[in-house]
Formats: sequence, structure tokens, C-alpha cells
Amino acid sequence: MKILVIGAGPAGLIFASQMKKAQPDWDIRIAEKSTEQEVLGWGVVLPGRPPQHPANPLSYLDQPELLDPQFLEEFKLVHNDQPNLMSTGVTLCGVGRRVLVQALRATCVAAGIPVSYETPLASVAELEAEYDLVVVSNGINHKSLALPPALAPQVEFGNNKYIWYGTTQLFDQMNLVFRKNGNGIFIGHSYKYSSTMSTFIVECSQETYVRAELESRSEKDAAAYIAKVFQAELGEHALVSQPGQGWRNFMTLSHDVARDGKFVLIGDALQSGHFSIGHGTTMAVVVAQLLVKSLASGPDTAAALENFNARAVPLVQLFKQHAEASRLWFESVGERIGLSNEELTASFDARRKEAPPLQDALMANLGYALGR
Ligand SMILES: Cc1cc2nc3c(=O)[nH]c(=O)nc-3n(C[C@H](O)[C@H](O)[C@H](O)COP(=O)(O)OP(=O)(O)OC[C@H]3O[C@@H](n4cnc5c(N)ncnc54)[C@H](O)[C@@H]3O)c2cc1C
Repeated sequence: MKILVIGAGPAGLIFASQMKKAQPDWDIRIAEKSTEQEVLGWGVVLPGRPPQHPANPLSYLDQPELLDPQFLEEFKLVHNDQPNLMSTGVTLCGVGRRVLVQALRATCVAAGIPVSYETPLASVAELEAEYDLVVVSNGINHKSLALPPALAPQVEFGNNKYIWYGTTQLFDQMNLVFRKNGNGIFIGHSYKYSSTMSTFIVECSQETYVRAELESRSEKDAAAYIAKVFQAELGEHALVSQPGQGWRNFMTLSHDVARDGKFVLIGDALQSGHFSIGHGTTMAVVVAQLLVKSLASGPDTAAALENFNARAVPLVQLFKQHAEASRLWFESVGERIGLSNEELTASFDARRKEAPPLQDALMANLGYALGR
């Protein structure tokens, strides 16, 4: 079996390494559009402590401690300048995206899976002729590769503007801060992801973004303005953005099917979900493992992809339901900003209660994929 994986992010890398483990004789290779050094984003939160938690990609590494992961047990919501501190109920693991992706890539290479960087894209026709299976894991970059029409995504953009900053201020809890000034409401999501760095994501409505003149400010000036809004949290620590990764509207990609012919979608390429539920990488791991399980079950690739599709699509639709509920809650926070801290916390907690629990579905699917 000859497999091409398009995109060396968590989804493609976990799929490739676990598939190779299940079928060592298969020819699996990965094509990545960027250089080895370019990895977008700062830190992410993952579930549990490695190596115990199979949905945490660090559990697939020999020495996860080398990535300097940070474990978070508490959640703090700040509103009206007052903190509301509580337990997260589960252990969360903050880790840098770059070190995570680079370590997973090294694992693939060590297993005999070549990763080609800065690889020019082949056309769908060429890929079809050359490979038995093409695993599309290129994240939300759907414009970068023309796929069969059946795999064209539905694309939606959120109303809020957001930016993903890093900072040297260390947040020991998962922090969610609501701050209002003359221009509107700003929301900061932050947590440490190494012993020296934290992620700091900021979102605000389009109207607030315009009133605060964030579009016309330079990157540096905008970061200084936002740092002032969150001065109580940041002190003198600056906010740093990645070059070219400015303010944007969150993009949700959705599909009703996960495969067509020789092509199969996994990770964000199949379904992306708002950062406020922090499950994108976990989804990437679970869906990759479902694909491995299906392909390892027998020699009929078409039947395997059919089985994968039947398992993965309901799961990603549930993920979408949770992510959308959360995104909409943040986009309409102005309606709730007059609530007390306790009331806002309760409303935040309840925002995804209408949907069946995502965590249970993720663990049930992962248990099935791993035969546990
Ligand atoms: C602000 C923000 C915060 C987030 N926080 C969290 C969090 O706390 N926890 C969490 O679990 N998730 C989080 N996520 C989501 C998480 O980053 C994604 O769900 C996850 O990275 C998906 O993995 P992936 O491999 O599918 O895609 P990606 O990580 O996007 O990887 C795709 C890869 O494909 C490459 N590529 C693109 N196009 C091509 C092409 N044509 N050919 C070859 N290669 C290509 C890209 O360069 C990239 O390396 C967050 C996302 C955002 C935006």
C-alpha cells in the first residue's frame, strides 16, 4: 500500500506514525508545504498527563518531558476585575505547538516515514495515479489543494476578530478574562505552555475592533494597546504575534463526508472547531486513530474508508455542534456583560450543555480505535 499524507501537522503525523506501526511494510510518506522551522501558533492545551492519556499526542513520544509540558488543574474567570477560581475537573496539559509538531515529525522520520518540506503540490490527477491512498491533513488550508468536488468544504467565518499572541507572563491556571473599556469588550484566553511562555488569545467584536482602530495600528502598536487592556494580568510583559498572523475571523471548515475515491480527510481539513473549546488537536488524534483502525482491519480499502466515514462523520458533527455553541456564546457576550461574576461563570459553564457530551464520544471512539 502506497500512502501520501498531505500536511505534517498533528493529524497527519499521528496517522502516519500509528499506521506505520500497524503496517510496517506500507510505504507512507508526508508532504509538507512549509519549511521545517515554520509552525504556526504558540501553545495549545491537551487532555491529561502523558503517557496515560491516549488522546494527548505527547503520549506517542518516548520522552514527552523534553517538551517542557505544563499541567493545569485550575480555571480562573475574571469579570468585573474579580477572579472566580475553580477546578478544571481534569488535568490539562499545555505545550508549545512548534516543539510538539517537531517531536512528532522526528518520531515519523525515525519510523522510516520521509517528510518532504517545501514540497510543491501535485495535481489531484497525478496523486491518483501514483498513490493507493491520499490522506488530506492540510488543516484549514483548503485553497492550497484542489480536491474532488465531493470533498469541497462548507466554509464559515465567525463574527469576532481574534489574534493568537504569546507572552513571557506565566499563567498557572486556564484564564478567561473579560474586560470592558470605552471601545467595547475584550476577552483574553491564556495559560502557560512551557516554563517560560504562555498563550494569550484575544477576541472582540468587529465593532470593538473598528472603534479601537486595531486595523490601522501597526502590529506592535496593536499589541501594546491590547497589553494595556490586560495590564492587570500582564504587568510589564509584552504580547508577541507571529509574523503574518494578525487579527482574523475564525474559519470553520465542515464536511458531510470524509472520503471520496482515494482521498480521505482528517484533522482540521475535515472539521475545524473554535479555539474556545480547545479540542482541535484531540479531535485530530482521535480521527487519525479511527482511520488507522479502519485501514488495518482488512485489505479492502474502499470498505475501510466507508467504515471510517461512518464512524468519523457523526463525531466531527458533534464536535462542530460544541464548537459552534461556544463560538456563538463568545460572540454574544455583550448580552451578558451586566451579569455578576458568578452568573457569568454559570452561563459560560452551561454554553455547551444542550449538546450530548463531547468528551464521552471522543473517549468511546478512541477506545474503539485502540481496541480497549
Ligand atoms: C487560536 C487557536 C488556538 C487553538 N488552541 C487549541 C488548543 O488549546 N487545544 C487544541 O487541541 N487545539 C487548539 N487549536 C486547534 C488546533 O491547532 C488544530 O485543531 C490542530 O492543529 C489540527 O491539526 P491538523 O494536523 O489537522 O492541522 P494543522 O496543525 O493546521 O496542520 C496542517 C499542516 O498542513 C500543512 N499544509 C497546508 N496546506 C498544505 C499543502 N497544500 N500541502 C502540504 N502541506 C500543507 C501546514 O503547513 C501544516 O503544517 C487552536 C487553534 C487556534 C486557531
